[in-house]
Amino acid sequence: MLRLLGRGKLSSILTELVSSSRRPVLSRLGGWATSFSSYSSASSSLQPLWADDEYADVNWDELGFSVVPTDYMYVMKCARDDTFSSGRLNPYGNIELNPSSGVLNYGQVTSDHSMFIPVRLIHSSTLICTNLLLRTVQQGVFEGLKAYRKLDGCGFMLFRPVENATRMQMGADRMCMPSPSADQFIDAVKETVLANRRWVPPQGKGSLYIRPLLIGSGPVLGLAPAPEYTFLVYAAPVGNYFKAREGMAPINLVVEDEVHRATPGGTGGVKTITNYAPVLKAQLLAKHNGFTDILYVDPVKKKYLEEASSSNIFIIKGNVISTPATQGTILAGITRRSIIEIARDSGYMVLERLVAIEDLIDADEVFCTGTAVVVSPVGSVTYHGQRFEYRTGAETVSQRLYKSLTDIQMGLAEDTKGWTVEVA
Ligand SMILES: *Cc1c(COP(=O)(O)O)cnc(C)c1O
Repeated sequence: MLRLLGRGKLSSILTELVSSSRRPVLSRLGGWATSFSSYSSASSSLQPLWADDEYADVNWDELGFSVVPTDYMYVMKCARDDTFSSGRLNPYGNIELNPSSGVLNYGQVTSDHSMFIPVRLIHSSTLICTNLLLRTVQQGVFEGLKAYRKLDGCGFMLFRPVENATRMQMGADRMCMPSPSADQFIDAVKETVLANRRWVPPQGKGSLYIRPLLIGSGPVLGLAPAPEYTFLVYAAPVGNYFKAREGMAPINLVVEDEVHRATPGGTGGVKTITNYAPVLKAQLLAKHNGFTDILYVDPVKKKYLEEASSSNIFIIKGNVISTPATQGTILAGITRRSIIEIARDSGYMVLERLVAIEDLIDADEVFCTGTAVVVSPVGSVTYHGQRFEYRTGAETVSQRLYKSLTDIQMGLAEDTKGWTVEVA
């Protein structure tokens, strides 16, 4: 049963929200009133009155990848040196943060060595390359996973949520933050999906993208881990990540060898919020020049592929599929790992190795993987002004891998690996 808030709590929630921000409350009040009137008031633990097959008012054919406010978000807090104990669903809306909260203050790019104290505690070799590490120690990690509506319309499928939970734990450890247990993480995700069930697109139209977020929310002035942490889970219905009508429209990448996403000894291997803002400028420029995304190379030799801004890269040559080995600078994607397994099961040789730019140029097919992009075929890569094109379309390996993966994720093919988790 959902732990949804009773009517009795409405006034306290509103008081809380009025104190945090007036305007959003006024503009959201109507929606909430509707939400609350949709619940029976017969008992204090209320049952949703939305039928399983009831949908939110969304044009499912126009879904892209953007923020759509849904009904509820999950919130759980914990003090430093403590463990997360209990969280709850709140109406989706603004959150309140102290102006000196850790996550807001230690986010600037700096070369000040004092910024690396938490890093040094964990990675003794970090100071060797501080000239490369002009990065932040911002306390924030996030995850991304999707819920698909099952074919029969009742119930939802999550894909390998345990992997997201353990990756958040690893990232939290790297950033000196406490993290929810795997069970707490998965329960929070499930509750968020069920509470927002009317926002999960019909089968075939998209999915509910779920965003767990862990931030240092307590106030700090000197550089130190924050005294309080907040774990949030919110969700939004999504269609295709890249703006295209077709699920498999090829993307065009440009190799970037001046700006680097991650550096040895840094945080490229964890899904920390720190890693994304520093590449926005290069990404915007690439988009301005007509490319879909950037392909990063290693910052030392500028010769080996790393990954795209938020997805991993694979190349195919003959029967051999290669992807850069993850050695700290590359985010070890759950889609990446799943595709490696599916491709091996289908008879391909899959190598995790150093992948040089020459190998990329020489490839037959190239594709990117990630929860958001799923499997995206790469139509072209531009390197130092030269454009190289790859096979795309119906009869490609990436198309077959896309289908094998999404059939499992959507419950259309038997899951022999125990990857999917049902929510009902
Ligand atoms: C999230 C992410 C990926 C993909 O990981 P998945 O677990 O497959 O979603 C790849 N690269 C970066 C930089 C990411 O942030």
